[in-house]
Amino acid sequence: MSEPRARNWGGNVTFAAARLHRPRTLDELRRIVAASRRIRALGSGHSFSAVADTTGDLVRLDRLPHTVDVDPDSSTVTVAAGATYAEVATRLQAAGYALANLASLPHISVAGSVATGTHGSGEALPCLAAQVRAVRLVGPEGDLVDLDRDADPDTFPGAVVALGALGVVTRLTLDVEPTYRLAQHVRVGVPLDEVAERLDEVFGAAYSVSVFTHWIDGEAVVWLKRRTDRPVADWAGGRAATVPVHPVPELPADNCTDQLDVPGPWHERLPHFRPDYVPGSGRELQSEYYLPRHRATEAIAALRRLAPVLDPVLQISELRAVRGDDLWLSPAYRRDSVTVHFTWADDPVAVPPVIRAVEELLLPLGARPHWGKLSAADPARIAAGYERAEDFRKLAASLDPVGRFRNAHLDALFPA
Ligand SMILES: Cc1cc2nc3c(=O)[nH]c(=O)nc-3n(C[C@H](O)[C@H](O)[C@H](O)COP(=O)(O)OP(=O)(O)OC[C@H]3O[C@@H](n4cnc5c(N)ncnc54)[C@H](O)[C@@H]3O)c2cc1C
Repeated sequence: MSEPRARNWGGNVTFAAARLHRPRTLDELRRIVAASRRIRALGSGHSFSAVADTTGDLVRLDRLPHTVDVDPDSSTVTVAAGATYAEVATRLQAAGYALANLASLPHISVAGSVATGTHGSGEALPCLAAQVRAVRLVGPEGDLVDLDRDADPDTFPGAVVALGALGVVTRLTLDVEPTYRLAQHVRVGVPLDEVAERLDEVFGAAYSVSVFTHWIDGEAVVWLKRRTDRPVADWAGGRAATVPVHPVPELPADNCTDQLDVPGPWHERLPHFRPDYVPGSGRELQSEYYLPRHRATEAIAALRRLAPVLDPVLQISELRAVRGDDLWLSPAYRRDSVTVHFTWADDPVAVPPVIRAVEELLLPLGARPHWGKLSAADPARIAAGYERAEDFRKLAASLDPVGRFRNAHLDALFPA
């Protein structure tokens, strides 16, 4: 079945694909892949970059059964690649289980999130792809390939954050743990000087911490998501918010998860946004950078100096902590990171020069751009930030020798 051209969630990418396939069975998917010249998987389309784009075919797995199978013996869940975290989390919670972490929104597909190194916040918590224990994918000839963290220790770390380059992932097995509860509260009026000087205390103040700022007024709003089964930390800068807030202060908090320190299940507190509402501001562009954690204070100082340039197009910025991992293309590869996110105005003319100005400051500090968000950096320079880029290129060439899953974005990053 074919449908006309599609756009991403942000509306800034109209996919060049001639066809969008939405197979209903695995066999149909395998036939589509084998018969295509070039093909890219599309998840829920929440990326702002052209990473999913193609002049070949697009395939979306949302019509395949959204299976979610918990295995208590191995403490894992095996999920259909097209399922969203909202679907997986609801089913896990009902079975008494949880994931260690989620992104700011639960609307995104598991496969698409994992493919781009999507992360939440928590200094002890790596990106979501680190939860993956096994993947099954459809290879270039419609063949099925199974990869497993324990059985394939040499290649597996290259095959998880893979930008869709190795094949169409059909299912993923994730680590789970017993369900837990969190309570979320917000501190407003926190001086940015305090964030910079006491960064370890701020990020150590709860299981998951997000620091929102406009840079220009020298203040931050800090969201703290604490586990109710762990001791309460000491840091409490600024003052407690007395009403629920949205990350973009001008917007109503209706689409946000419950705050004011009211406990609730993990999946109703870890994301900032509720699954049944539009996340973010709804009209926006985004970019984000993973910095080595030890460079975060310098980055904060540099961005404060740039505040007058940022301010006209910035809806909000967010700082988060991400633990390092061993996934070759993870932007947190082998380094504990602080991420700096920018929600920009939906202005494709005014925003790119500001992104360039940000990157002039942050790339020299070792920043790696988020694969799913906008960057103006030279693709060769981005790839050079990854020690295992050449290994990834070889892995992609071995699993996809005909280049079925390549696109212009990948060609620029990892020339064949
Ligand atoms: C409002 C909003 C909030 C966000 N918040 C966060 C956040 O908190 N943290 C964060 O890190 N990011 C965040 N993002 C970015 C988002 O998480 C990433 O862009 C993520 O990739 C989106 O997943 P998706 O399913 O939409 O992927 P898509 O954009 O559809 O695809 C991304 C990549 O995954 C590949 N892919 C998708 N499905 C498959 C498959 N089955 N097999 C193989 N490859 C596949 C595609 O080919 C493409 O390369 C946010 C985005 C938005 C719009």
